[in-house]
Amino acid sequence: METFYRVHWADCLPFSAEHAWSALWGATRVTPDGSRIECIACGGTGTADGTKYGDPCAECDGDKVTDAERGYSCYTNPTDLIAYFAHRGEPSDDDSVIVFEGRQVGAGSDGETLAVPTRVIETMTWSELRKRENR
Ligand SMILES: [Zn+2]
Repeated sequence: METFYRVHWADCLPFSAEHAWSALWGATRVTPDGSRIECIACGGTGTADGTKYGDPCAECDGDKVTDAERGYSCYTNPTDLIAYFAHRGEPSDDDSVIVFEGRQVGAGSDGETLAVPTRVIETMTWSELRKRENR
């Protein structure tokens, strides 16, 4: 089993294997479990040119929705997690940092790891993580 580090946003579904789906930032989830998202290529219109009568979108085949990626985006060590969010904008302490055991299932669009959790090891705030890592 590997150990992973993730920032879990306060407004996300509860942290669990069942909800372990990833979407690009800003993607619109269309199923309650987050496994399907509005097609990004066509903006959810279903057509290649975004008009009502255009050719079907090649990405979603006219379905308007596509599958999200399996797994939570996360990092295999706290240093990389901190480096990523230092660049992107740091989470607030309403959000959680979750340390978990799980299985890597792929790699995300930003080069991060995608993993499905099997067990939560601990939960802390961003400030606690920063203090612990002394950065
Ligand atoms: Zn599409």
